[in-house]
Amino acid sequence: MSDRDGKIWMDGQMVDWRDAKIHVLTHTLHYGCGAFEGVRAYNTVNGPAIFRLAEHTERLFNSAKILRMKIPFTPEQVNEAQCAVIRENKLESGYLRPLTWIGDKKLGVSPKGNTIHLMVAAWPWGAYLGEEGMKRGIRVKISSYTRHHVNITMTQAKAVSNYTNSILANMEATDDGYDEAMLLDASGFVSEGAGENLFIVKGGVVYTPDLSAGALNGITRNTILHICKDLGLEVVQKRITRDEVYISDEAFFTGTAAEVTPIREVDRLEIGCGSRGPITEKIQSAFFDIVNGRNPKYAHWLTKV
Ligand code: PMP
Repeated sequence: MSDRDGKIWMDGQMVDWRDAKIHVLTHTLHYGCGAFEGVRAYNTVNGPAIFRLAEHTERLFNSAKILRMKIPFTPEQVNEAQCAVIRENKLESGYLRPLTWIGDKKLGVSPKGNTIHLMVAAWPWGAYLGEEGMKRGIRVKISSYTRHHVNITMTQAKAVSNYTNSILANMEATDDGYDEAMLLDASGFVSEGAGENLFIVKGGVVYTPDLSAGALNGITRNTILHICKDLGLEVVQKRITRDEVYISDEAFFTGTAAEVTPIREVDRLEIGCGSRGPITEKIQSAFFDIVNGRNPKYAHWLTKV
């Protein structure tokens, strides 16, 4: 991935992709204190646009605040950097990765006196969990790894270090032949996927774990809450047990990368009819209308690049 054409925005400059490098003594590389975002640009009916850019940038600044890192740019500069990266790389759609990290001035655990950096890269990225998964649904395993407790790592920060837990859970699930992991919190209640929020449907009502289960406050999750309201679907945010997931009528993951991915199986148990459910399909279709600029109500969520 490092050796390719294209540009990466790095600390205010457009740098050639293959020259966008950092030193091996970079603090974040050693201790994992950094924050990032995952953002998508869509080739909408009005041209390339970034979906919910302001909200992603706000979460990046909030993640940095939680980690006590001061990003040396304004949110407006970070927004503009993301638009510029899409333009410079001539992308019509794609995935954006802003990341803020602590520099290489010193290597003690304390980051005080070190420098804070920011980069934004973008590249084409299709369906995160596969095109087929978007239609048929994916197979998920409840992880043997517990999701972060809210007072161990900071679960509302999209922190670099939080992802070791996601990586372990994803590797365990995929090594066992599943597509993705679902993690439980320290009390055993359902939290989220390795990189996705979870929704289930039971008796026509949509349920999602409340954020005290250590799930990230997903921007797609929030989009789904709006969509459900528009579709007249009741949504309940509550503690959810794994057996509630097993006996749900439908289940799906949401995320910027995963978009709306139906779940057809959990721990080898079929969910509902064992394929994408009708309510999931409705929500998925409304989601793609919004991100592709086909729903004027949410035109303000799309920033033209
Ligand atoms: N949870 C985790 C752990 C994630 O990595 C993501 C992806 N950012 C999500 C949930 C979904 O968040 P969003 O919809 O904002 O991408």
